[in-house]
Amino acid sequence: MKQGYILLLSGPSGAGKSTLLSKLLEDFKDELYFSVSYTTRAPREKEKDGINYHFISRDSFEKKIQNGDFLEYAKVHDNYYGTSLKEVLDALNANKIVVFDIDVQGFMQVKNSLKDKLCSVFVSTKDLFTLKQRLNNRATNDDNLKQRLHNASLEMNFLKEYDYFIINDDVNIAYDELKNIFKAEKLRITRYNVDNILQLWNDKGE
Ligand code: ADP
Ligand code: 5GP
Repeated sequence: MKQGYILLLSGPSGAGKSTLLSKLLEDFKDELYFSVSYTTRAPREKEKDGINYHFISRDSFEKKIQNGDFLEYAKVHDNYYGTSLKEVLDALNANKIVVFDIDVQGFMQVKNSLKDKLCSVFVSTKDLFTLKQRLNNRATNDDNLKQRLHNASLEMNFLKEYDYFIINDDVNIAYDELKNIFKAEKLRITRYNVDNILQLWNDKGE
């Protein structure tokens, strides 16, 4: 039985992370576990509580911080976002591939705590202009567009910290690239129980 790992996506807001992840989750639902983040941001029109995020108050979020409930958390665009520690550990123990979409600050925290279990992917548009267009198309009243664009440039500076880079221009090509990463990572030697494999391999030789 292969061991699970964390497939972590970051990149500027509007780069297409949710779009790519929802395709992957649809195609590989039996193997994947999507970790639903907690946030204090208001839901967008089509978003559902418990599906896209757990939408909670600032007070509740701060209580969870104090209880040590988060694997990582960060303040992004003036709102808190965080990942449940228990959910992630339970899914890894069940040998699932845990999928996250988190910001660069959160990524740096996970890299420090669960490095061996981590495969990190940075997703961006081909340039800033394209990002502006996508954010304008998606804009909602709650979104602070200027701040998101400013943060986008800051986030790009973390690119070299990641294992893989996908430029999401043609969405079908970008999705193929994500699938290739997901499949190759399953074959990484650290995902196997090597002692067990050697034992079984030798046992069958007699
Ligand atoms: P993120 O999760 O990174 O914030 P989204 O997945 O919400 O980004 O995508 C932002 C917007 O861009 C959405 O309206 C989405 O439909 C659109 N989009 C995503 N990928 C592409 C692409 N390759 N080409 C054009 N538009 C795209
Ligand atoms: P959005 O408001 O567009 O859904 O997300 C804004 C940013 O927050 C994105 O960069 C997204 O990756 C990040 N984000 C979403 N969930 C989490 C989380 O649980 N932790 C951290 N650190 N960032 C998150």
